[in-house]
Amino acid sequence: MLWEVLYLKKTRMTNQRLKILEYLRSVKTHPTAETVYEAVKKTLPTITLATVYRNLNHLAETGEINRLLVRGVSHFDADTSCHQHAVCKECGRIIDLHKNTLIQESLKKIRIPGFKPRTVCIMIHGICDKCEINNKKRKEQRKKKKKTGKKKTKRLLRS
Ligand SMILES: [Zn+2]
Ligand SMILES: [Zn+2]
Repeated sequence: MLWEVLYLKKTRMTNQRLKILEYLRSVKTHPTAETVYEAVKKTLPTITLATVYRNLNHLAETGEINRLLVRGVSHFDADTSCHQHAVCKECGRIIDLHKNTLIQESLKKIRIPGFKPRTVCIMIHGICDKCEINNKKRKEQRKKKKKTGKKKTKRLLRS
């Protein structure tokens, strides 16, 4: 009986872990634990955020997925092949890059006494096209507001 309960518990865990892994493998967005939770909840309605966290931690520890720390928040990536990330400083969007020559070039240039470098993790920080367009729009709107604001005060002064 106890064995059965334990077995069921164990298989349920594995099933949850499998669903989390399946979801992660289906996306390229490097989701956070919360996003993973929202997605797997659709097929596993009883799953809790704590369980998702536990499974993600386990998967990251066993090397089945990668954990990326972006602006203090953990993001998860099922693509464990050697690749780099470009992160937008505005929206936090993470874009995959597969430029392995970057790593080879960097490794050649690194000299640390008493240390053998094996790999280099590269995270490129910048701004994505969407955010750049939005920023421009916001700036233009602010300019317009300033202009109309001035007109209003002039009118008020006259009356
Ligand atoms: Zn962005
Ligand atoms: Zn990635």
